[in-house]
Amino acid sequence: MRKSDILLIGFKTLDLGEHLFEYQIDEEFFSEMKNEEIHNGELSVKVLVDKSERLLKLHFDIEGQIETICDRCLGEMMLPVKIEEEVFVKFGIKTYEEAENVLILSEEEYELNLRAMVNEFIILSRPMRAVHSQEGDDTCDVEMLKKIEEYQQKKSVDPRWAALEKLKNK
Ligand SMILES: [Zn+2]
Repeated sequence: MRKSDILLIGFKTLDLGEHLFEYQIDEEFFSEMKNEEIHNGELSVKVLVDKSERLLKLHFDIEGQIETICDRCLGEMMLPVKIEEEVFVKFGIKTYEEAENVLILSEEEYELNLRAMVNEFIILSRPMRAVHSQEGDDTCDVEMLKKIEEYQQKKSVDPRWAALEKLKNK
């Protein structure tokens, strides 16, 4: 499969009924998306398309791991991901998001590009606070933790920092 075909579904030519599409997304996908918190990943994406006369029902199963930054030590970490989502696609005059998980697609469209949608699911799957599990190799960077602690202590004793903090809290 050409990389440009990943998560691109030509639905017009599909027969009515269910169709399963399977993709692998990796570095290339994430460098295209330029997410702030998720820089890389390796995931399998399964999309079950149920086509009826005026409606497409999409069922997503996304599984794998993403690379993100640990909120404690600021080091890189891998985070397992498992996502299940359902989206309904209806047709109308123009393309827009009618509601969460309801997409209206212009009658003129014949292809469905699911890249932005899948990217959003992945971003939303990241917990507010992600930290190394501290199990096996998945541990925080001890050197970095020390530095962060030193920095915070310096900040609390240095009068210039204290003055700045005061200004910030005004
Ligand atoms: Zn960490």
